[in-house]
Amino acid sequence: MKISQTDDEAELIIGNQRHRFRGQWITGTPWERFGLYNAYVVVHADGTVAEVTAHSGELVPGATEDLIDYIKEQWSNLDQPTAPLTLEIDPTNACLSRDCGTRCFSAAYRRLNPKAQIDGPVIADLLTAFAREGGKIVRFDGGGDPLLHRDVRNGALLGKAKQLGLKSALLTSGELLASSDLPALADSDCYLRVSINACTDSTRKAFHGNDCSAKSVFDAVERFAGLLANKGTCVPVGASFLLDTLNFREMLDCAKICRTIGIRHFSVRRVLGPQSLRPNFTETQLREVENLLEEVSSLNAPSFRVFVPWRPVDEPDLAPRSGSIPAAQCWQSTFKTIIEPFASDQTFRAQLCGRYRGCGMGQALQLPALFQKESPVTWVHRWRDSFDVYPHSRGELVRFCPSCIDRGFILMIEGLLNAVGKKSADFSLLHLKRSCQPR
Ligand code: SF4
Repeated sequence: MKISQTDDEAELIIGNQRHRFRGQWITGTPWERFGLYNAYVVVHADGTVAEVTAHSGELVPGATEDLIDYIKEQWSNLDQPTAPLTLEIDPTNACLSRDCGTRCFSAAYRRLNPKAQIDGPVIADLLTAFAREGGKIVRFDGGGDPLLHRDVRNGALLGKAKQLGLKSALLTSGELLASSDLPALADSDCYLRVSINACTDSTRKAFHGNDCSAKSVFDAVERFAGLLANKGTCVPVGASFLLDTLNFREMLDCAKICRTIGIRHFSVRRVLGPQSLRPNFTETQLREVENLLEEVSSLNAPSFRVFVPWRPVDEPDLAPRSGSIPAAQCWQSTFKTIIEPFASDQTFRAQLCGRYRGCGMGQALQLPALFQKESPVTWVHRWRDSFDVYPHSRGELVRFCPSCIDRGFILMIEGLLNAVGKKSADFSLLHLKRSCQPR
């Protein structure tokens, strides 16, 4: 197999067969490729090829290699795997932010000021079982802010994930970065992504609902990025900016500051989910948003990758019930799971996806947890059983949920598995940046 390319065409030669694709091959390490490709080319051992829509952000902090390994390991039971590929763990429900302008998916239980957390040793056991059973990627997420958990703040749990061979990410609003053990976090090789939703204290306060200064967050991020630079690691620091009527006028200034403090990925996000959680931009504001997004995009450079929404900011919510997710099953809740604290007794429960954190409290549909109060040593077995005992099958969910924030991943896996087919697990993937829709 040989690849080559011209300015607008990527060529793949297998034996005496030539395959041409509109676009450019993307090569390099996972972090070098990150965000640059938008399609996979599936190459089967029998020489057949297929092009599939893909997005590297769907796997972060994992990579294509993790996905290939996982598919091959789970080949005979992909619709009911023995372990999830990705675990999103919410170490604590506590958060210093109030509810992020009411846009937080957990806004309803945020207002209850939940403080439940999972004990550090329990999380260590959860990670050990996850790695042992074949899991590959862990995201410390929320729910709350993971840095409110002492064993995240001191780097112990991120270090444990690294020791177990897991790729990890830490998502935080950044208030406690300054008082975290930054060298220990840097040593863990975790991908840090900070919610940078404002660059002035007044907007930050309006959005996050606390008095943490924007500068203190920027300063801590800069220190962390400096530690990574000194280590010579390839893991970047990322920032996300959630578009809201409260903060959109600061997105360009935020991007410019992020560029100077060592952040290498800047991602502007639309608020997804039901209309009740979405910001109501006026027509004038929407035009302003579009102009600002263009300016933010123009900052894109190899050392500062910028991602802006390609869908309209006011595009309506995705509604699986109305058939907007053409897939055989919900691959999100098949390949991933959420573990969050349960009540205040420091146990945990598992949810289908981020949409159902807090069992979907405050949203149009509440669903029960996949399981709760399980041993941290055997939880993966219980997760596996959930395919048989949960009231809704993973297949039913893509025609049942009233809103979904994970369509991209579901469709990417649907397309990939269809392209791989059931011939054999002997396939490889190439990364393509398409310049147009597949022919
Ligand atoms: S909301 Fe989407 S990702 Fe979550 S269970 Fe429903 S279909 Fe799956």
